[in-house]
Amino acid sequence: MEIRIRKTQHPQPKPEDPRKLGFGTVFTDHMFTMDYDPQQGWHDAAIVPLEEIAIHPGAAVFHYGAEVFEGLKAYRTDDGSVQLFRPADNMQRMRNSAERIQLPDFDPDFLLKALLRLVELDQDWVPTTPGASLYIRPVEFCTDIDLGLHAISRARMMILLSPVGSYLSGGLKPVNILIEDTDVRAVRGGTGYAKCGGNYAAANRAAAKAERRGFDQVLWLDGVHRQYIEEVGGMNVMFKIKGKIVTPALTGSVLPGITRRSCIQLLRDKGYEVEERLISVDEVMASLESGTMEEAWGCGTAAVISPIGSFAYQDRQFTVNNREIGPCAQDLYDTLTGIQWGRRTDPYGWIVKVPKP
Ligand SMILES: *Cc1c(COP(=O)(O)O)cnc(C)c1O
Repeated sequence: MEIRIRKTQHPQPKPEDPRKLGFGTVFTDHMFTMDYDPQQGWHDAAIVPLEEIAIHPGAAVFHYGAEVFEGLKAYRTDDGSVQLFRPADNMQRMRNSAERIQLPDFDPDFLLKALLRLVELDQDWVPTTPGASLYIRPVEFCTDIDLGLHAISRARMMILLSPVGSYLSGGLKPVNILIEDTDVRAVRGGTGYAKCGGNYAAANRAAAKAERRGFDQVLWLDGVHRQYIEEVGGMNVMFKIKGKIVTPALTGSVLPGITRRSCIQLLRDKGYEVEERLISVDEVMASLESGTMEEAWGCGTAAVISPIGSFAYQDRQFTVNNREIGPCAQDLYDTLTGIQWGRRTDPYGWIVKVPKP
């Protein structure tokens, strides 16, 4: 399929101070879009000026939440080139998410090609400020005009680009976590492993409660027993207990993070023992109380590594590592960001270069 390209006649000024960008409110000049229907399959693939789109108010996405998305970044290296981190993994995960929601499948190589073409066109928007990057948001949603509950037949795919500041403007600052004991994000057999908007809608109430009470993030427990650790907000979670790294197994209700997968590989290659298994909140609280929990951190594309400074559960609260960043979290952060920004060699083949214009 050809990708039609229509360039903007009105390029927008680039943000002056990328440190003030925040996350996801500024967008570049162009976006990618394509449509699906059963007769034509995917068609009308185009890179066009970023503009408002007209969608019928009866479209199923507004009523039944048929939507999946991805999140990855383009990084500016010291030599001025632009590169991506494991983008094929995002394409594959998006197919898995779409399959769960029964949105139409797509050719991952084609979508990656479109994504690279879009980033290439808007590459002047990739910030040069340390820690800042260009966030890439592919999204697929159902455009059937139908309030009846029918199988999905029409969909749209879009890719948006948003220059973002460093998620952690004050450096790696440990966050305070509230372990949620009432609401659940996902259950096994549900959509937890899919990156879909509905999971975030389900998380809103607990996130608002945590924020009101002065916490940074929610840590989710499993939906059946309210006992096993799942993940934190939009990040996977890892603990260092008695020298070993422990992280929840991918049981179906946990999002299979690409940062998680990369951390596990890096940790094993650095000689750590990494266990992917069920971890109960009782085990976490006991290891905090006895002091055997040496470090804890969240990991995801947005923040890379987010050290955890404290956990609160019901009426108890414990700090981790004196609310300081531990050596393991710091080392992971340095290694990952080093590879992503091209300051360290990439022995894994994780980096994909964006062609120069
Ligand atoms: C995207 C996401 C993650 C992290 O995945 P990465 O591929 O590492 O960015 C973790 N949990 C949830 C719920 C997510 O949506």
